Amino acid sequence: MDLNNLRETSNFDDRRGEGGFGGFGGPSWGGGFGGLPAFGMRGGGLGFVGFIILVLLFGSNGGGGLLDSVLGGGGQQQIAQADNHTDDAQLDFARKIVGSAEDVWTPILQARGVTFSPATITFYTQDTPTACGEGQSSAGPFYCPNDKRIYLDLSFFNQLADQFGAPGQFAQAYVIAHEYGHHIQNLVGTMDQHESQLQGSSARGATGASVRLELQADCYAGVWTYHADQRFHILQNGDVEGGLRAAAAVGDDTLEKQTQGTVVPDSFTHGTSAQRMRWFQRGLQRGEMGDCDTFGAATL
Ligand SMILES: [Zn+2]
Repeated sequence: MDLNNLRETSNFDDRRGEGGFGGFGGPSWGGGFGGLPAFGMRGGGLGFVGFIILVLLFGSNGGGGLLDSVLGGGGQQQIAQADNHTDDAQLDFARKIVGSAEDVWTPILQARGVTFSPATITFYTQDTPTACGEGQSSAGPFYCPNDKRIYLDLSFFNQLADQFGAPGQFAQAYVIAHEYGHHIQNLVGTMDQHESQLQGSSARGATGASVRLELQADCYAGVWTYHADQRFHILQNGDVEGGLRAAAAVGDDTLEKQTQGTVVPDSFTHGTSAQRMRWFQRGLQRGEMGDCDTFGAATL
């Protein structure tokens, strides 16, 4: 990626190192990467479903497990410092992606008569309070519609590269752009509009509202890519392929195959690898929000 033309957002909050030791329960919203919104707070079934999905996603590696394995043994101090240094570069990177998302989405929403207001990206380690309940990094990056914040523990990017096989800056950019896509859905009213479908027990499943919401966020990540490249010339050789690799890595079928050996479409919340790649590419093709109507699509 070429980041030279991107400005760093000022809408961020650095809570790294503030994490407590509480939060033994799973998050009560379904907010893992590709995160579902916070309807679980209202006592519907989706929060529970979301928790299950988080377990599927990150089952063996919850909480500080990753950090523990990285920092195990002697010389912890040195390694920790090196990590922090790396994280600062990653934080600046994430601020640039969010800055470009603000620049890209402001005029697009304006043209639709929707006033843009920015999301705040919140960097944290391990756990942090959110308006959607206790946020834990084992959930992966997520968006909370109640406080309009994207929550990101930067160590997820190591996991994305090492565990999910999706290295590279653009894979990371895709993750942030997907979460920003949820913010756009929140601003334009998509979440409210489909609230009842997203709350019900039918939310999950291969053609359920959850999958439609998530695939639309993937499509919006493609829309962002198109315009960010038009305006700021971000794409370099191999970038799109890196994004597609990330989209494929977090498909429901791929994750279920890896974690449980079988694929159960009735349990889907985010869509298959093929679908996630397809909708990302669809948004990327022309940069048109209107091409992302996953709720109206007969075929996902
Ligand atoms: Zn999502």
